[in-house]
Amino acid sequence: MNSDEKQNNHSHRLTIAIVVAIVAAIGLAIVAPRFAMGFEVGGQVFLRLLQMVVVPLVMASVMSGIIGLGDVRKLGRPGAAAVSYYLCTTVFAVITGLIVVNIINPGVGIDKKLVEDARKEGAREVKRAQSGHGPHGFRFDGGIRTYATTAVVSDTLELHDADESKVRIRVVHSPSADQAARVWLEHRADEEEEWARAGDPFTAETENAEHSFTATVPEGAKEIRLHFEPGSPGSTVVAAELEAGPPTIGDIFKNLVLMLFTDNLLGSMVGINLLPLIVFSIVFAGMLTTMGAKAQVISDLVIGINDALLNFILLLMKLAPIGIFCLVAARFGKAQADGQFLKLLQVQFYYMTTVLSGLGLHVVITLPLLLWIFTRRNPIKFVVQMSQAVLTAFSTASSTATLPVTMECAERKAGVSKRSTEFVLPLGATINMDGTALYEAAAAIFIAQSYAVINPDFQLTLMAQATIAVTATLAAIGAAGIPEAGLVTMLIVLNAVGLPIEMIGLILPVDWLLDRFRTAVNNFGDSVGAAIVDQTFPEAAA
Ligand code: ASP
Repeated sequence: MNSDEKQNNHSHRLTIAIVVAIVAAIGLAIVAPRFAMGFEVGGQVFLRLLQMVVVPLVMASVMSGIIGLGDVRKLGRPGAAAVSYYLCTTVFAVITGLIVVNIINPGVGIDKKLVEDARKEGAREVKRAQSGHGPHGFRFDGGIRTYATTAVVSDTLELHDADESKVRIRVVHSPSADQAARVWLEHRADEEEEWARAGDPFTAETENAEHSFTATVPEGAKEIRLHFEPGSPGSTVVAAELEAGPPTIGDIFKNLVLMLFTDNLLGSMVGINLLPLIVFSIVFAGMLTTMGAKAQVISDLVIGINDALLNFILLLMKLAPIGIFCLVAARFGKAQADGQFLKLLQVQFYYMTTVLSGLGLHVVITLPLLLWIFTRRNPIKFVVQMSQAVLTAFSTASSTATLPVTMECAERKAGVSKRSTEFVLPLGATINMDGTALYEAAAAIFIAQSYAVINPDFQLTLMAQATIAVTATLAAIGAAGIPEAGLVTMLIVLNAVGLPIEMIGLILPVDWLLDRFRTAVNNFGDSVGAAIVDQTFPEAAA
């Protein structure tokens, strides 16, 4: 047996060990959930070991890739190919998600009480997101205010952004309400000014428990407040809420551009914010290639660090079956102990089927077809070669933490060139998230369909579906490669089409599980991208 065959055998044994570890962990979690939860520490240790190498690995590999090319300008063609690939596959994924959700219609006819309960649960999650920053500097600032019944004139909402031209108003009646309430928006440019009414009053009839409408904020307004008049003295209106308007597509673009740059390199390293680190590494290594012999020591050092880190990952992979067993046992054990498994099947069966079928189609048809068309590689063989990375992605639910394994598999098992893996995979793990995009689109439509059950005023127009498609694409690009990051950027999608963000409660209980599947798809999409872009490097063409 030659050394290649030996290595292949060893690799197959490792893959089988990982599969056995996942199956055994799920089995243990179902039979003895509390005991399974005890493995959490082991899982965390493995996760930390992987995450520990991510920042140095990304910087060293991107730099060593550029140094290997010898000239940063040679990155032009593969760079353009990589970005086109990311964008095209993300758009394909979104379209697949939209088609599947419109066929299965998981939210149509859903139980009203279930939606109302989920909404309450969602409100808590939203508060958590509002108090902090989303991944990659996306700040979620919904600005919700809830008003008591008796107050005729409400609290005010300060407008921070001159572009904030729309606000959303939600009115909820008490069950005993029998007379319509009138609601309108008031505005002023500064504290000295009198409040002025903006637009016509809205009449909230009582036959619907809840109304949502969007009001336009007049130009120059710096402060707005909601004014509501109950139809009769006493409580006809339980609450009226004022939310900052949905972010415009322009706002989201602005955020995406800012994500590329940092004013604090060390801060980005500490926060594992990979995009600005990749930008810095490209520029820095580009400089090194122009400095000749003077920079040779640094270049050699970078290449040496990169090689050492790859060997370190090889060592880590030996621990993978144990680490993965612990991760999966602990998380599935927790779900079983909380009684979430049954809940998943009973309540969210159609929604889960929707997302999983969409992901399945993308991974079984779209990606293999692209791989075969552009590289003539056998997709089944490629899946086997990348299987350790895909399984690790499933187990960690983090593209970023899986990156070291992906690089290892792509380079040593699938034979993708170093030039391509070093550049395409770190970038892909950060911005190319097909699974997340598909999920965001499908979940947003599911939520819209469910919301229409409790609020007949809400209509899911074709325009709203188009807005969901665009924002889901951008939200997936903006999502960090960490567990359940897609849930946070989901708020942007909901906000953009005027859906109450607390409706997120509907998809919360199953998100941890779907996250694993979409992370695996994200990961596989990155690897296919690295194989395809590999063809476009100058040396490969020669
Ligand atoms: N967990 C996913 C990833 O790391 C992101 C998401 O939440 O969709 O790729």
